[in-house]
Amino acid sequence: MTDLPAATIAAADFYDRHYAGAEPIFLEPGMKLMLGSGERPRHCRFCGKDEPAVTFKDEAHALPAAFGNTGLFSNHECDSCNHFFGEGIENHLGNWTKPMRTLSRIRGRSGVPTIKKPVPEKGWRVEYSGTGFQLKEYEGEPFFEVDEEAKQVRFELHRDTYIPVAALKGLVKIGLTLIPDVETPHFRETYEWIRDPDHARNFVAQFPVFRTFIPGPMRNDLIVLMLMRRRAGIDTVPYAFFTFAYGNEVLQVFLPSISQDKCIDGKALSLPAFPTPGTPDPARHGPPRVTVENLTGRGAVKGEKVPAVFGFDSMIEAKPEDAKGEA
Ligand SMILES: [Zn+2]
Repeated sequence: MTDLPAATIAAADFYDRHYAGAEPIFLEPGMKLMLGSGERPRHCRFCGKDEPAVTFKDEAHALPAAFGNTGLFSNHECDSCNHFFGEGIENHLGNWTKPMRTLSRIRGRSGVPTIKKPVPEKGWRVEYSGTGFQLKEYEGEPFFEVDEEAKQVRFELHRDTYIPVAALKGLVKIGLTLIPDVETPHFRETYEWIRDPDHARNFVAQFPVFRTFIPGPMRNDLIVLMLMRRRAGIDTVPYAFFTFAYGNEVLQVFLPSISQDKCIDGKALSLPAFPTPGTPDPARHGPPRVTVENLTGRGAVKGEKVPAVFGFDSMIEAKPEDAKGEA
């Protein structure tokens, strides 16, 4: 693999020296995987209660259905925690990721999410129809900037209101679902933190989330999850993280452990993002782009704009009042 960029090779080497990865989970349509044994009585790792004090009737998604997960479930989560997360932090995570899920054509329970102008009257609309995107705007109210030469459409999607730290808890919850039973004692405080409805509470000082955007056509029905744990004898990096790849996005989320991360307390972290395989056609679509997302904000974020660029092969322009279509 000598054609990989030097930075990718350096990052791969960094992670290889500092971390050991668990076998990744490649989740594809039609698969059904259950995390944890179904042995009774069952134990909920989130609230710490056992049957029969809590019930396990529902199938708890190991990551929300909104990401296209129809096959990865968990025996570790009781019905009451399942409902609590579903109505709380998973909604915030859903709102934060919705623009990306629309652009990556990720099918949730009711298909690819449609995003439209956040006012009651008619306005712009971005909708996936199954064969292509329909971009709709109204005369006198241009929303999409079309560059015929570059074959690109640029626009700004809005994000539904979300609390950043609640979305972060939603991400961390996925990692706390994936970790093996033997690791759970290291994350006792982290489990308490994600269940705390008080999002203003302080938890850890540094909490970066790496987001890698892979441009170009990527599969919209493959999810890849991988856990990594620090190697024995290493004390300069966080204890654990997981990577979560879907559509055009890879999120790398640290799983803070109060006991295991004492060695990095007060030290500034300097880590490369976990390397990604990149786009199938880098010459056309460009290299993956890494950003560090800060999701520690505690107040509700309203009306945030998310810039988007679509590349297109062909475009069908419809009459005013009709949709602009893109194949
Ligand atoms: Zn529970």
